[in-house]
Amino acid sequence: RFEGVTMAPPDPILGVSEAFKADTNSMKLNLGVGAYRTEELQPYVLNVVKKAENLMLERGDNKEYLPIEGLAAFNRATAELLLGADNPVIKQERVATVQGLSGTGSLRLAAAFIQRYFPDAKVLISSPTWGNHKNIFNDARVPWSEYRYYDPKTVGLDFDGMISDIKAAPNGSFVLLHGCAHNPTGIDPTSEQWEIIADVIQEKNHIPFFDVAYQGFASGSLDEDASSVRLFVSRGMELFVAQSYSKNLGLYAERIGAVNVICSSSDAAARVKSQLKRLARPMYSNPPVHGARIVANVVGDPALFSEWKSEMEFMAGRIKSVRKRLFENLSQKDKSGKDWSFILKQIGMFSFTGLNKAQSDNMTNKWHVYMTKDGRISLAGLSLSKCEYLADAIIDSYHN
Ligand code: PMP
Repeated sequence: RFEGVTMAPPDPILGVSEAFKADTNSMKLNLGVGAYRTEELQPYVLNVVKKAENLMLERGDNKEYLPIEGLAAFNRATAELLLGADNPVIKQERVATVQGLSGTGSLRLAAAFIQRYFPDAKVLISSPTWGNHKNIFNDARVPWSEYRYYDPKTVGLDFDGMISDIKAAPNGSFVLLHGCAHNPTGIDPTSEQWEIIADVIQEKNHIPFFDVAYQGFASGSLDEDASSVRLFVSRGMELFVAQSYSKNLGLYAERIGAVNVICSSSDAAARVKSQLKRLARPMYSNPPVHGARIVANVVGDPALFSEWKSEMEFMAGRIKSVRKRLFENLSQKDKSGKDWSFILKQIGMFSFTGLNKAQSDNMTNKWHVYMTKDGRISLAGLSLSKCEYLADAIIDSYHN
């Protein structure tokens, strides 16, 4: 019976790391997965994380099951971090927060909620988007379609296309938005554009669904990176937000995140939360405690909180300096006169190079640079000293 099972294709993002491991060339570079590396290209555990873990040992925290909705101190901290501690919706108890299995698990739980309570609604996702979004909605049996986002001609935002596709969708659709540092393009709407997006979503009675995987990692400021979400909340809209602590606290393997549903009343929030718990119980029962305690300890201690902000600024700063160096190397070395300034305008961990699939294959096969086939490279996996090599690889792949 198992003989009938066919081989699944490798994951377009995580499969890249597997191929990278198998490559024995010493110049190889893994720019596939979005994971922060030091200038020496080593994984990085934040100092505040180690301190928070020490606190846990000192206190002798136990390993009892968490409630289905997760650790109360984490849920409070995560909603406050997202919305701002003095946001009226928190005082009014209009936020249903449930701890999730990082960003992915939180998106998946929200998708299950949509499937159960809005069986006729569809989700609009940006074209392109993070590859796993489509998998998540497919597996949750939530229909989706794409709205225009990226304009290859300008290597920028196709704002008119985006607005007209959101307008054209059936009223009451869910609109998936990247809160900051759009993956894979690194292109975010301006604050004026966010206002217009909010106008259209309100006119159409759509429900915004924010994916916030990079809070603090885009600008270096937690508040600034949450401003898109806070704008929609301040307009009194109901919305979903999935959060992840993989990148901003470097907790990739701890699987810590949350789903927040901003509701119109505290009563509705209590009911929504009860239903999210009902969905979570048969899926994974209750979430893991370790990452939740780290976040709660870091956010709950003023000294650790401020140290976290400096470490985040440092990580965001390293990525910005690599971005700048890569741009300089490309501009100096490329004799074709191509304008590479789009690299400087992009935000966050990634750069969307505009390399097509064949060119991306050339990057890997000839230059041992591992990246996703949509032309995305993770600058978080690049060091200053490798920028020149990468620039050579990109120029060769572009022009051949
Ligand atoms: N959404 C986006 C847009 C992402 O880039 C990521 C991380 N690659 C995630 C969600 C979630 O990642 P995780 O499940 O590790 O939190």
